[in-house]
Amino acid sequence: AQTLEYNTEKLIEQDLAHLFHPVTNLYRHSQTGPLVMVEGKGSRVKDAGGKWYLDGFAGLWNVNVGHGRSELAEVAAEQMRRLAFQPTFFGMATPPAIELAAKLSELLPHHSHFQFTSGGAESNETAIKIARYYWALSGQPQKTKIISRRMAYHGIAMGALAATGMPAYHADFGPLPPGFLHVSAPYAYRNNPGLSESDFVAMLAQELEQTIGREGPETIAAFIAEPVQGAGGLVPPPEGYWQVIPQILKKHQILLIADEVITGFGRTGKMFAQETYGFQADITSFAKGVTSGYVPLGGVGVTPEVYAVVSRPDRMFMHGFTYSGHPVACAVGLANIAILERERLWENAALRGEQLLRGLERLLDHPNVGDVRGKGLMALVEVVEDKSTKKSFAPSQGIGAKLQAATRKRGLIVRCNDTGIAISPPLIITEAEVDEMLSILADSLDEVF
Ligand code: PLP
Repeated sequence: AQTLEYNTEKLIEQDLAHLFHPVTNLYRHSQTGPLVMVEGKGSRVKDAGGKWYLDGFAGLWNVNVGHGRSELAEVAAEQMRRLAFQPTFFGMATPPAIELAAKLSELLPHHSHFQFTSGGAESNETAIKIARYYWALSGQPQKTKIISRRMAYHGIAMGALAATGMPAYHADFGPLPPGFLHVSAPYAYRNNPGLSESDFVAMLAQELEQTIGREGPETIAAFIAEPVQGAGGLVPPPEGYWQVIPQILKKHQILLIADEVITGFGRTGKMFAQETYGFQADITSFAKGVTSGYVPLGGVGVTPEVYAVVSRPDRMFMHGFTYSGHPVACAVGLANIAILERERLWENAALRGEQLLRGLERLLDHPNVGDVRGKGLMALVEVVEDKSTKKSFAPSQGIGAKLQAATRKRGLIVRCNDTGIAISPPLIITEAEVDEMLSILADSLDEVF
């Protein structure tokens, strides 16, 4: 392979002068500069200085098949040479868009039709709009409200942002669109007042019932939720949650949107988390793992019932993005899914996920580790200042930055903030690499606290 030379000093200078980073403390960035990554192989990535790291976050929860898969590059190049772009607007299509939709209907057999986007937020915007459109065309145009959960992360476009339940993402970007309601996250560590798991589920169910009752089910279009909450604090559902909640929604004729942007394509130990937890949504949004991040792609799947309503003869479906069904992205998606299936990577996610969680549980002895939780290859170590009161660290204490420095110094990329460390490695991670990650995490915690 060709070796590329980088002028690191110049790159840093240009970054500071021109690159406006998302989700970054821009002042602090001007002091610290960027971490410039130049190469990836398997579960590892290399920075511009030549140092290799274990990619314990799979990019941004998305590089499921790992880095450096040349077959995906070849598929992309071949499709670009053949036909770089045609839309799926106006009934047009390309073979990769059609074939990917057909493939997805095998993986999510309760969905018959798929529309594509370029990412997670766009997928959730699409899902929310399909839900409203569905009710409008069903003669119930007043069914528009969307219920989501606190700690939810659904992306940063305005509709997805309004559904997102993390105040830090809302601050100073208002006004947000009206008609979005939030109920409690199934976050046992802080929200369970000491009940059994099944009583905790009953408590959450009752809160949802009360919210629906207060607002009136005739005003509510959909409930949107991540099967396992990710960016907002990594919350796997308590046992039975995904049996009880869909029943309530069905009873009140409220559509269920499963946001499988992180959980889709193997991360929770099955191809989709709906299989892991045994439920079926009316609409599923996905992104990230569909291409393992090699090119941007997302989308939504709908049930035959939803599709039948929205494909009425007197209406055009007036929603879509230029890049809905981009042929290069869809070709890469197909090849990426072929790798996931050939290597049965969801099985490795289940196996290595167990190893990871058991290893993280050993950290519970640490005086500042309040909780550890996870499902498949998504996990979190929650840190607290005081374990008995569960008091969190104040942002001024800079714990997130310290944890980030400690883990990066030891050659591990994970997402660190003031509440803890989120982990989500590629699904190809090996037993030895999980052990390496666990030992770096333990040493980093010892250094910071
Ligand atoms: N939904 C979930 C569950 C996510 O985790 C994310 C991103 O992390 C999104 C939606 C938004 O995806 P994107 O950043 O591709 O818009």
